[in-house]
Amino acid sequence: MRIGTPLKHHRDEVPFDAIVVGSGIGGLTAAAILAREAGKRVLVLERHYTAGGFTHVFHRPGFEWDVGVHYIGDVHRPKSALRRLFDYLSCGRLAWAPMDDVYDRVIIGGRRYDFVAGREAFRARMHGYFPAEAAGIDAYLDALDACARASAGYFAEKALPGPLAFVAGGLSRRGFMKHASRTTRAVLEGCTTDPELVGVLTAQYGDYGLPPGRSSFGMHATVARHYLGGAAYPVGGSSSIAASILPTIERAGGKALVDAEVEEIQVEKGAAVGVRVAGGRTFSAPIVISDAGIAATFERLVPDSTPGRREYLAMVARVGPSAAHACLYVGLDGSASELGFTTTNLWVHPSFDHDANVAAYEADEQAPLPMVYISFPSAKDPDFERRHPGRSTIEVVSLAPYARFAAWADRRWRRRGDDYERLKSRLTERLLDQLYEHVPQSRGRVQYAELSTPLSTRHFANYGHGEIYGLNHTPARFAERALKPATPIKGLFLTGQDICTAGVGGALFGGVITASAVLRRNVLSAVLRPRAT
Ligand SMILES: Cc1cc2nc3c(=O)[nH]c(=O)nc-3n(C[C@H](O)[C@H](O)[C@H](O)COP(=O)(O)OP(=O)(O)OC[C@H]3O[C@@H](n4cnc5c(N)ncnc54)[C@H](O)[C@@H]3O)c2cc1C
Repeated sequence: MRIGTPLKHHRDEVPFDAIVVGSGIGGLTAAAILAREAGKRVLVLERHYTAGGFTHVFHRPGFEWDVGVHYIGDVHRPKSALRRLFDYLSCGRLAWAPMDDVYDRVIIGGRRYDFVAGREAFRARMHGYFPAEAAGIDAYLDALDACARASAGYFAEKALPGPLAFVAGGLSRRGFMKHASRTTRAVLEGCTTDPELVGVLTAQYGDYGLPPGRSSFGMHATVARHYLGGAAYPVGGSSSIAASILPTIERAGGKALVDAEVEEIQVEKGAAVGVRVAGGRTFSAPIVISDAGIAATFERLVPDSTPGRREYLAMVARVGPSAAHACLYVGLDGSASELGFTTTNLWVHPSFDHDANVAAYEADEQAPLPMVYISFPSAKDPDFERRHPGRSTIEVVSLAPYARFAAWADRRWRRRGDDYERLKSRLTERLLDQLYEHVPQSRGRVQYAELSTPLSTRHFANYGHGEIYGLNHTPARFAERALKPATPIKGLFLTGQDICTAGVGGALFGGVITASAVLRRNVLSAVLRPRAT
């Protein structure tokens, strides 16, 4: 199902109050809040054939797969802030299916460690695995909490107008920066001297793409704590997210146009005035919000002479792109229940030292895959069986250095030549081997398997290095003051995963902060107010 209207079918000439470039969750959130809180008519322009960004799904005969949503924390608790935000954005149209209590299972060197929902259940399970390290585990959980407590001021500062941020910013950022300026490894090694425990507690590092020696503890803590209470999956698959938010935008006269690639954000006399899309049509509005990522926005969308462009490009170069990935999309004959698939994600690692595993694989394609993540979307979505009876799906993901694929970057999709296909075949075989080893009942039932590479992400999502999480989540990223919605260009705002953090929740909060910056008021309390949707 396509979400949004193709640009070529759009005839209406009524002007819009704001334009959003890109329909990821950050862009949709900003658009829906502007619509609901200020009655603004917002035009969302999406270059892909369907709206949703990384929340979209794609289909092959008999199957469908999500591309960037495997599990979301907090949303199964009706009173959590994230759930209330989704209820607000979708006017209650979006339903969630809680996952099993064991949301993640870590497999390292043949040993299994289950991540159980609920902070105390998690603590007890980890104490059970590492009885000599109980104090270290408690210290780790305390560090997650301390980081979370300090984060509100850091993220709220991003919505403040420039002069106020200048005066108050240092203080409100300081608490979180104490955590975020350290690597995850440094903080964990302050809690425990057991490298196996460090390896287990950081085994979800694929959720933000960086092993513990390179990631900011601010990012690790945000993600690990997000999942501590367990996780859920959208009923109807991840495309339900955009499908349920779009009517909120449309109710105020807004629209999402797809197959609508923005080629230029037009800037006149230092102010954004509209956009030009591929094919030459233009749309005017006094507010333009980019959800396309800061790198793409300043490298490709604004004119060269735009004020501040050089500084943004320097910042993008300093922080660098996040990791790229490969994903094997597998379609199977037999339903999830018939094949005994559960909702638990598997994280398979060759050893406890994630930094060494990643470095070895970056240096040598033959080295063990540094991380393999196996997800069972058809088991997570209670509506999947109705849409695709007697079928099931699995996704098998690993990191894939962009440099290994860069030589084919300028070749066309599906026409990248034999060497590229051979590289893909080798990777496909390795991922299938992992699948058969860890999910043996899938052997003999695979009907379809298609591999995406970093070039697929580049082609479909417009991230230049095939990066999945926008700018990298290193300590350096969190020190950058320019990662905020307001820009030096009047009327041009930024949103999405580069503003707060990666993740559906992170990008969504980016959208909330952008809407606050546009409307010049803190919309969070209004949005969280209890109401009859
Ligand atoms: C493999 C993978 C697994 C993930 N798993 C999870 C998970 O389990 N849980 C979780 O919380 N998060 C997960 N994430 C992360 C999460 O999906 C993202 O952080 C989040 O969705 C990003 O949202 P966004 O609004 O920043 O932008 P995006 O979703 O990246 O959307 C940006 C949109 O802008 C469009 N665009 C770009 N340039 C233009 C242009 N010039 N004109 C028009 N449109 C343009 C793109 O086509 C895209 O649709 C995963 C991501 C990936 C890739």
